[in-house]
Amino acid sequence: IPLPLNLYGERRINARGLSLNINAQLEPLLENIHSYDQHLWSGKPWLAESIQLPTVSSSKVFSPFDQAQQVGEMHWTSPEQVSAALDAAELAFPSWNATPVIERAACLYKLADLLEENMPELMALCAREAGKQLGDGIAEIREAVDFCRYYALQAEEKFAEAKLMPGPTGESNELYLTGRGIFVTISPWNFPVAIFLGQTLAALVAGNSVLAKPAEQTSLVASRCMELVYAAGVPRAALQLLPGKGSEIGPLLTSDSRVAGVSFTGSTETSQVINRSLAARENAPLATLIAETGGQNAMIVDSTALPEQVVADIVESSFTSAGQRCSALRILFVQEDIAERLTEVLTGAMAELQLGDPRDPATDVGPVIDEQAKKGLVAHIDKYRTKGQLIAETQLASELSKGFFVAPVAIKIDQLEELEKEQFGPILHLLTYKASEIDQVIASINRTGYGLTCGIQSRNEQFAAYLDSQLRVGNLYINRNLIGAVVGVQPFGGMGLSGTGPKAGGPHYLLRFATERTRTINT
Ligand code: GLU
Repeated sequence: IPLPLNLYGERRINARGLSLNINAQLEPLLENIHSYDQHLWSGKPWLAESIQLPTVSSSKVFSPFDQAQQVGEMHWTSPEQVSAALDAAELAFPSWNATPVIERAACLYKLADLLEENMPELMALCAREAGKQLGDGIAEIREAVDFCRYYALQAEEKFAEAKLMPGPTGESNELYLTGRGIFVTISPWNFPVAIFLGQTLAALVAGNSVLAKPAEQTSLVASRCMELVYAAGVPRAALQLLPGKGSEIGPLLTSDSRVAGVSFTGSTETSQVINRSLAARENAPLATLIAETGGQNAMIVDSTALPEQVVADIVESSFTSAGQRCSALRILFVQEDIAERLTEVLTGAMAELQLGDPRDPATDVGPVIDEQAKKGLVAHIDKYRTKGQLIAETQLASELSKGFFVAPVAIKIDQLEELEKEQFGPILHLLTYKASEIDQVIASINRTGYGLTCGIQSRNEQFAAYLDSQLRVGNLYINRNLIGAVVGVQPFGGMGLSGTGPKAGGPHYLLRFATERTRTINT
């Protein structure tokens, strides 16, 4: 099987040479993307064909960058539909699980091609519904394509053949992987195509029947993806989409005794609620929970690092996607000898950032997802503004008040402990440290209990190796930015409060969605 086209190619270059490469890729797509400027999408629950229940509620969807701009209309799942979907998923499981893995994987390969063909429309929809800037849109669809091909390859490798175990003469022993049953996937709005499809297809290709609950804010994208999923050959009953409010649909699913596993990406608090709900069920399978949650990601910069080089990585890590990535940099520790110079270069770089319409290729930073997100971020910034601790703030043009824009800021703080929770937006906190205090810095990062990404910027290899040995994080990046983990290259996921593992885009991911079975035959 040839290696997937863009798995090890362009996207690896993107991690460092982002803007140049992305602009060259954008140019030929722009006209097509803009042909969707006025388009209205319609989204709905996707249920097994046998289910005839009508949808009873819907709402209009507006853009986060312009509240006057309608993107489409979304129809929501009723509790009766959730219950019927669970019944249909239960019925569908045995035959989907018995479908040869080569056929299941073939659907993912086909879907990868369809995603590529529909890239301009999906990018337009991501920009208009999720406020995704175009560069992010390319990376998003690429990542989804990579997930499809990578998990298809992994499934073929790991599920196609049973492993023969040694045994006595006259006995055959085989160990093989099989689906667990009904798997629920609950996905976030910040990667409405890539993570939504990544976690859902992993569950599906492992043999489970899947109920997917997309983030409420990006349900139109999810619904459009489902049309492609079915066009790729996935049976309707094997994968159903249940759009709606997490607080309404979620408990109906996680409390059901037929659910064998949940894959969740979102906040640590919600993952704890799901965990409790699964554990409280009586006479239910001991369910698997795969959770990818938040972080308080730090970067440590010592005095051997070159400020000009480091600043590019800081800006990319903190402000790409308006800081709405769980991998994003939140807390920067700078050795005090270079703090002044670094702050000066950082201030200059932040002044260059352009906020605006995510469909404009010149835009660096788009809006945040919704009003509630904006309010929370602005309240945090204002608290520090009042105390006079803002070091730098990007300009926000007044016409952007029609959307949920938050200007990137850098804030000086006294200690990591004063940050109560993750700020999921374009906010960078800065602390200085003396060389003699490095162990306190490490301890304070580890004490947060989170452990997603962390960065080290240093030309002192011994120093970097020492930090590497001490920091309890899932993805450590030395002398580069913290975002844009590439499928099959940087398997992604945290530890502690940041997630249960396994790592998305890694070789062990599918295993957690499956269960193992041993077959012994007395021949
Ligand atoms: N995998 C993404 C990255 O490396 C982050 C995923 C997330 O935000 O959940 O930037």
